[in-house]
Amino acid sequence: ALSHKVLIIGGGAAGISTASSMLKREPMLDIAIVEPSPSHYYQPGWTMVGGGVFKAPVTCRPMADVMPDRVKWIRESAASFQPANNTVTLSDGTTITYEMLIVAPGIRLAWEKIEGLAETLGKNGVTSNYRFDLAPYTWDLVRNLKSGRALFTQPPMPIKCAGAPQKAMYLSCDTWEHNGALPNIDVEFHNAGGVLFGVSAYVPALMEYVDRYGIGLNFGSTLVAVDGPSRKATFKTEAGEVTRDFDMIHVVPPQIAPEFVADSPLAGDAGFVDVDKFTMRHVKYPNIFGLGDAGSMPNAKTAAAARKQAPIVAVNALSVLNGGEPVADYDGYGSCPLTVEKGRIVLAEFGYDGKLLPTFPKWIIDGTRPRRLSWLLKSEVLPWVYWNGMLKGHEWLVKPHEKQDH
Ligand code: FAD
Repeated sequence: ALSHKVLIIGGGAAGISTASSMLKREPMLDIAIVEPSPSHYYQPGWTMVGGGVFKAPVTCRPMADVMPDRVKWIRESAASFQPANNTVTLSDGTTITYEMLIVAPGIRLAWEKIEGLAETLGKNGVTSNYRFDLAPYTWDLVRNLKSGRALFTQPPMPIKCAGAPQKAMYLSCDTWEHNGALPNIDVEFHNAGGVLFGVSAYVPALMEYVDRYGIGLNFGSTLVAVDGPSRKATFKTEAGEVTRDFDMIHVVPPQIAPEFVADSPLAGDAGFVDVDKFTMRHVKYPNIFGLGDAGSMPNAKTAAAARKQAPIVAVNALSVLNGGEPVADYDGYGSCPLTVEKGRIVLAEFGYDGKLLPTFPKWIIDGTRPRRLSWLLKSEVLPWVYWNGMLKGHEWLVKPHEKQDH
């Protein structure tokens, strides 16, 4: 049977960063990553693709290029976990033994939960920035729409990048404001949740843009069906089902834990990898850690969160491998750069319990206000930091937090 000292499931933002972070500390460590995809995506860039700011190819690189040199890449998907035996079984039936398991396969987009959606995605005015191949279609629709109705939807939590549904909407409105179409376009936001953004400090700035663009807000309105050919969307609301005609609709799909995690002994109640929210160590299995979108921690599921989590998991897992206990705590940091217009961003950065955790002092960037410098960060700096810093294990601006008493 195959055997590796450290086995990582998922070569996304979290998995690659954790491997690099561990290798920075122990260069000879034996690490394997199980990852079936030939491509690695910078998903935060997809909002910019849908807004016509980035071209899609800049958000994608061959997986081989981001895989750390000293990591063994296993090009398969993981299918099941046997934590009592310290083994993982792959979809081709191979079994791999590990000393330390790190689980980071992300969250699954459940397109099939919305009736009629899968067959009409990418045509009939139905799009989503949540897929690499569809984000360019968002931009096609937006720049060609001159009048009519545009719908933007947000499913129930949890989702990755909870701000992304409205980012797509604001960037679209910005385009229509500039080309003069906005007065002829009826824009509606349909949010399954009850608030515009979960951390209230950012809501006033967002509301200014909702008013400026004339957006109709609908809370407690959950998309349940899309009829592409007749361009109708059906929402479940407290008052019953509501059907709206549309010229374009930007859909954010419901999101759930991957089945092979949810159906395993590793899962907690909601199906995600059941870890301590501070140390990221599994609550039952001391030689398993979980991070990224697949983790049970109640942080905002973002690449920014993974950037902070990776070094914490790295130092904690190394400590456990060397016979010790976890030595660092994660504070729940996540970030959501809300693209309220082309050229300005409301830079939400917060941790557990909605505590604001700004990276910069207020006089440099006030995260609760739309700022040009925040746009520069999102459009120029962060993609570079992602590819050249985070994925390579350079922990600029990140210090693993010391253990705290809780
Ligand atoms: P992912 O990066 O999704 O990686 C998961 C990996 O696991 C994938 O490579 C996948 O192929 C692999 N995998 C899946 N199943 C298996 C299996 N069975 N076996 C092995 N491997 C498997 N974050 C921000 O910080 N800022 C933003 O502005 C932002 N905007 C976003 C906008 C959009 C439209 C989207 C979609 C996301 C956005 N995010 C943003 C969120 C961010 O992309 C994710 O939170 C981040 O990628 C999570 O990292 P991850 O490694 O947990 O998951």
